[in-house]
Amino acid sequence: MTIEDRTEKRLEAIAAAGETRRMAEPRGIDLSSNDYLCLAQDPRLKEAMIEGVRRYGAGSTASRLLRGHRDVFDRVESEFSRLKGTERSLYFSTGYQANLGIFQTFLEEGDAVFSDELNHASIIDGIRLSKAEKVIFNHGDVEDLRSRLCSVEVKGQKFVVTESLFSMDGDIAPLKEYAAICRETGANLIVDEAHAVGIYGRKGSGMIEETGIWDDVFVSINTAGKALGVAGAFVSGDEQTIEYLVQRCRSFIFSTAPPPAVAYALSKVIGMIEMEEDRRTRLMALSALFGGMLSEAGFPVRERPTQIVPIVIGRSEEAVAVASKLQEAGFDVRAIRPPTVPEGTARLRISLNTGVSEADLERLVILLKDIVKKEIETAFFV
Ligand SMILES: *Cc1c(COP(=O)(O)O)cnc(C)c1O
Repeated sequence: MTIEDRTEKRLEAIAAAGETRRMAEPRGIDLSSNDYLCLAQDPRLKEAMIEGVRRYGAGSTASRLLRGHRDVFDRVESEFSRLKGTERSLYFSTGYQANLGIFQTFLEEGDAVFSDELNHASIIDGIRLSKAEKVIFNHGDVEDLRSRLCSVEVKGQKFVVTESLFSMDGDIAPLKEYAAICRETGANLIVDEAHAVGIYGRKGSGMIEETGIWDDVFVSINTAGKALGVAGAFVSGDEQTIEYLVQRCRSFIFSTAPPPAVAYALSKVIGMIEMEEDRRTRLMALSALFGGMLSEAGFPVRERPTQIVPIVIGRSEEAVAVASKLQEAGFDVRAIRPPTVPEGTARLRISLNTGVSEADLERLVILLKDIVKKEIETAFFV
């Protein structure tokens, strides 16, 4: 069989499973982006990006360790560290790249990494590039993690890795409990704050701040293309840890530095996150309101609703059908299918942002109740 024939067969199988994906422009009321604080279109940020391009040009021209470095990267990294409450941060072009790099850098042969079963693909891929033994623990399960940490024989270092707010499930990891277990067992805790940074904690720096576990975290990953509205990711930790990334992290070293204008714009955002607390307050209020509405409509709802609300449908085709109905009614809700989520858990992933109105949510819940009840008798929540 030629590679063309084999690829054709693979694509046919994807189509047969109802999993063919299409790229479609935004249309309708945004209920699917990660622009939770509506910063991506903020006029002040757009101006900052333009000003950054005028100052620094379009591209950086090389790796940070060669001619690609500019002072603005140092500046934004120290501003982010101050927000995050850590000694130092390193800025990567994307969160995916950050996760591809950090595990390979810190995890050595003889080490073991304990990873939540629902961790993001970039964490899974990052771990694959390392030589450590990988142990999967049940999603958010403190006792399962504890027993695995105690039963696996590890010669070197132990690491525990989790998202703080899960991207496709909208639930929050028990970080306080993980911190305590890591202290007891001498494991190093790695927290991916992709969907929490900018939103949680008094200063908006994330769940680590909210739970007060700074001293128990080895490194955190903080994406800048979601709530922060721009692009890239900061990896934060203590001085020595981040210095080692500069010296050895392959995905940092062997990649052209991001456009400096992006760092210039981010420098503006960090100030806005700190000063404009009302954005976070509004997002929390909307999350609670939407949770209440769904619950009243008969949908099971998490104890603590967040801005990410999954409505698990099950079969891919059905999730797509429900999403199209909502799209026809003017809501930009997208279906999330395997392999992004486990088999049999295709879902709508509704993500709220500060620009959505209470009236829109009311209309959405009425519609959801109608469509989901009518079409899918078996709808359930994770
Ligand atoms: C989105 C995401 C990433 C990847 O970040 P990008 O900047 O989009 O590459 C990493 N981890 C988690 C948990 C994410 O949700």
